[in-house]
Amino acid sequence: MTRQEYMQQKRSEAWRDELRKSVKAKERGERPRVHMPELDPEIRSHELKMEVNQGLTEEQAVFEAGRCLDCANPTCVTGCPVEINIPTFIKNIERGNYLEAARTLKETSALPAVCGRVCPQEKQCESKCIYIQKMGKEPVAIGYLERFAADYERLSGQISVPEIPNRNGIKIAVVGSGPAGLSFAGDMVKRGYDITVFEALHEIGGVLKYGIPEFRLPNDIVDVEIDVLRKLGVKFEKNCIVGKTISYEDLHTAGFKGIFVGSGAGLPNFMGIPGENLIGIMSSNEYLTRVNLMDASNPESDTPVQLGKKVAVVGGGNTAMDAVRTARRLGAERAVIVYRRSEEEMPARVEEVKHAKEEGVDFLTLHNPLRYEGDEQGHVSRMLLQKMELGEPDASGRRKPVPIEGATEWMDVDEVIVSVGVSPNPLIPSAFSGLEVTKWGTIVINESTMKTDLPDVYAGGDIVRGGATVILAMGDGRRAAASMDEALRGKE
Ligand SMILES: Cc1cc2nc3c(=O)[nH]c(=O)nc-3n(C[C@H](O)[C@H](O)[C@H](O)COP(=O)(O)OP(=O)(O)OC[C@H]3O[C@@H](n4cnc5c(N)ncnc54)[C@H](O)[C@@H]3O)c2cc1C
Repeated sequence: MTRQEYMQQKRSEAWRDELRKSVKAKERGERPRVHMPELDPEIRSHELKMEVNQGLTEEQAVFEAGRCLDCANPTCVTGCPVEINIPTFIKNIERGNYLEAARTLKETSALPAVCGRVCPQEKQCESKCIYIQKMGKEPVAIGYLERFAADYERLSGQISVPEIPNRNGIKIAVVGSGPAGLSFAGDMVKRGYDITVFEALHEIGGVLKYGIPEFRLPNDIVDVEIDVLRKLGVKFEKNCIVGKTISYEDLHTAGFKGIFVGSGAGLPNFMGIPGENLIGIMSSNEYLTRVNLMDASNPESDTPVQLGKKVAVVGGGNTAMDAVRTARRLGAERAVIVYRRSEEEMPARVEEVKHAKEEGVDFLTLHNPLRYEGDEQGHVSRMLLQKMELGEPDASGRRKPVPIEGATEWMDVDEVIVSVGVSPNPLIPSAFSGLEVTKWGTIVINESTMKTDLPDVYAGGDIVRGGATVILAMGDGRRAAASMDEALRGKE
């Protein structure tokens, strides 16, 4: 039988039914979890835009879907902040109904191809899988399967656009086009509202575009998901800074009856140590935004970044991994993560750490910068590092890093990227007078309704949580949409 004939047979109904019936629960449980095919590290560590994860093949996806035990109480769903109907989409894959699987995903998620790529599934849905909870086995690869279904739909060209019942003509404004704003917009437009998303930048997508590099999340994949929202009727206004270009009052004058703020946390933190102003030291936000949105890795561009050869990235989150892997791709001979705790405490996704190591990134854990020194031109040339050890757990539950007295060392560097967290952008809290903010600058909301102190303003995502995750931002957007809808219909 040729491969083509085999695939044809596979797609037939009979084959699907046979496949399903023939797999016994015991056999499902004995199957090993599939491995994501990846681009060779030698090739990818020089390629800024080539995606590292290549996606499951059809055979792999059907095989992996067959591992799902279709539990009576699917705890995986409770682990997903947007409550995707995980068993249904996976069983659709097993049956070969890939388009139906994609449709199931879209019922609750505006960005399945994005989430299938960047969600920390190991801490969310997959962490609740019965295999890991009760059987000590690897969980079903829910994220890989989500990506498979979303990619299949996109590549098939049969992208479904959910039906909208009746339009009610009520105008709603969204501030920010990151995952929180997009998820809110998707849920509200499906309820019939007239949605306009205002975005400060010249690109739609928030961190999905300006933060996460294309080797992890290609822009055209984000664009396809945004395009579905456009087809649903969502309007996007780019280059419009709410609070500067237009005010809170302008939005009222224009007839908006509700506002959702999803303006994110784009203000980089620095450590405030001596020498941090030297040339060659910058935040990961600046570095990644310039490379991702402003073509800054091209020396001919208007604002090129320096292409460092000895690059240190300070931090251990996803942003630090993205920055260090970008530096490696831009020609760093030594790209090193400097992190004050141990690898176990790193907040970055496990997969990003693995990929970074494969690409030749060094990890200097239990080290923390004390100060920087520069050359005669004011360019950073070395950094003094304090060696640390782990003490008792702190408020985050992670063991606290404690300096080892007198233990320091110098490291030569020509570029340093600081990635030690972000703070909320203060513009909206100051422009929307009456909004209560915490001491960290995040907007205070009622957690069950996502409502702020202003009666028509709701908020979610990083502007409420501080730097968090794509799926948590999306979950906030969904909750805000449900409660704003109830309030507008007088059902609160
Ligand atoms: C480099 C990097 C890598 C990451 N990797 C991951 C990952 O792998 N997995 C994961 O789950 N999470 C990851 N995160 C975190 C995740 O991307 C964020 O938690 C998420 O994007 C937050 O969504 P949001 O919609 O709240 O904000 P954002 O995505 O920040 O979007 C906010 C948008 O609002 C716009 N805006 C701000 N102020 C205004 C204004 N006044 N008027 C109009 N528009 C405005 C901004 O320009 C921006 O586009 C990463 C973050 C970074 C920076």
